[in-house]
Amino acid sequence: MSGREFDVVVVGAGFAGLYMLHRVRALGLSVRVLEAGDGVGGTWYWNRYPGARCDVESMQYSYQFSPELQQEWDWTERYAAQPEILRYAEHVADRFDLRRDIDFGTRVTAAVFDDGAGRWMLETDRGERIAATWCVMATGCLSAPNDPPIPGLESFAGPRYHTGRWPHEPVDFTGLRVAVIGTGSSAIQSIPVIARQAAHLYVFQRTANYTVPAHNRPLDPAYRDAVKADYPAMRARARQNFPGIDYRINLQSALEVAADEREREYAARWADGGLPFMGAFRDLLLDPAANDTAAAFVRAKIREAVADPAVADALTPRNVIGCKRLCVDTGYWATFNRPNVTLVDISGAPIEAITADAVRANGREHPVDALVLATGFDAMTGTLLRIDIRGAGGRRLRDKWAEGPRAYLGLAMAGFPNLFTITGPGSPSVLTNMLPSIEQHVDWIADCLAYMRASGLARIEATAAAEDAWVAHVGEVAAPNLRSTCSSWYVGANVPGKPRVFMPYIGGFPAYVEKAAAIAGAGYAGFVLT
Ligand code: NAP
Repeated sequence: MSGREFDVVVVGAGFAGLYMLHRVRALGLSVRVLEAGDGVGGTWYWNRYPGARCDVESMQYSYQFSPELQQEWDWTERYAAQPEILRYAEHVADRFDLRRDIDFGTRVTAAVFDDGAGRWMLETDRGERIAATWCVMATGCLSAPNDPPIPGLESFAGPRYHTGRWPHEPVDFTGLRVAVIGTGSSAIQSIPVIARQAAHLYVFQRTANYTVPAHNRPLDPAYRDAVKADYPAMRARARQNFPGIDYRINLQSALEVAADEREREYAARWADGGLPFMGAFRDLLLDPAANDTAAAFVRAKIREAVADPAVADALTPRNVIGCKRLCVDTGYWATFNRPNVTLVDISGAPIEAITADAVRANGREHPVDALVLATGFDAMTGTLLRIDIRGAGGRRLRDKWAEGPRAYLGLAMAGFPNLFTITGPGSPSVLTNMLPSIEQHVDWIADCLAYMRASGLARIEATAAAEDAWVAHVGEVAAPNLRSTCSSWYVGANVPGKPRVFMPYIGGFPAYVEKAAAIAGAGYAGFVLT
């Protein structure tokens, strides 16, 4: 099968790809979306693990491009669970009649720029070749699962699951001995649910992690109606806030207030729940002493919640709070009080081996019937690098990024004309509410395509100088931030051999939007258009 040709091809039908399709179609360009899964939803299509739930409030983790959509959709919970978010993505696909332009079950394996023809040629795992003038990678930031290099992993005889590739049919752990490897966001959400089913649950923890309670609850209809009555105002406030989420950030330093006032602020945010905990003071991610006051508050909460002091101690993180992505949970710490849950601290030495029916760590065999890898993703770059992308002159993206990702605005790359990445490395994306960040990138790209068409332009490419300056800027703003100081997936530390580079832009959503708009307003400064 071959020979199809479009103005634009979009890779991925998650929230980014769906909205990109909608915008490109409205420009009157021909467009095709290629999606590896059998349905829409991206992250929310794949991550079906027990307890999967968004930790940005549902009234904000939603599109805003269509006021009608915003008004007609009713979220049922403060934090939406995966099935509801997937239903929302499916609703959007139907409401805007998007499916007819999507090829499902089609994984892009290669994308090669044809210098002579000035267009991209994509190859898929179905043996198709599809040509397009512009290629938009809407492939997600956390979509390439990270399978840990644990000796013997392949020899495990029982069922093995990765949280990011969870089966579509129900998984029942009743009566089984289960191992969960990892204690990141996915693990922290799934562990309490799996513990309620399993005969015994072993949690293998390499690094203790911070989590704050979600206090999830059914959405109060009065609150929902009030937000809907003035949705644009909430969205406008969110746009002005550093993470692109509407919540109050206290502009005081944690060190300038008295200890009892500080405790009251933390206690109020703890009682309210969720990520706004980190907005308690402005310097929590800038000053180690300020950060330690928040960390101490959470450490005390762990000691309160976990009955066995030795287990509490092992669960207590020693590093900077918020350095790794803060987790949001429902009943995580208390789960370790259950008689059927055992914490296996592997901070001193890695898991030695996985055998047919056990996980061996700290010199002991832990017999298990099922294995859950909650070991995260090759974040931000993994999904792109798993596609053989070659730009002008046959230059491979893998070579360009050998020392770490380099991109202009996280949107485009020197040497890769007419290729756009939605929420690519160097964009605020994962440090913000993904939905508005996605919409902003899609709008920027769609406006750029409209501009090119109106101006009779066929080719756009970031200059090396603009890209270098942006990469330097991304590094400069990251350097003083405590988030750049630990071994997180933000810096690629979770994938052996990955270059250590702070990948997202940490200058905040408002600053980024302003810069991206100014660049477009200046006739796409830093790009060559021909
Ligand atoms: P993650 O944060 O990268 O956590 C992976 C866990 O696996 C870590 O505890 C890590 O330990 C451990 N691990 C990795 N390799 C290991 C190995 N070889 N041996 C033992 N342990 C190993 O991944 P995630 O939990 O899937 O979350 C990724 C991101 O997705 C989150 O940070 C968040 O941005 C997003 N997410 C959001 C939600 C939500 O909205 N509620 C839910 C899930 C995920 P180390 O810490 O020592 O590396």
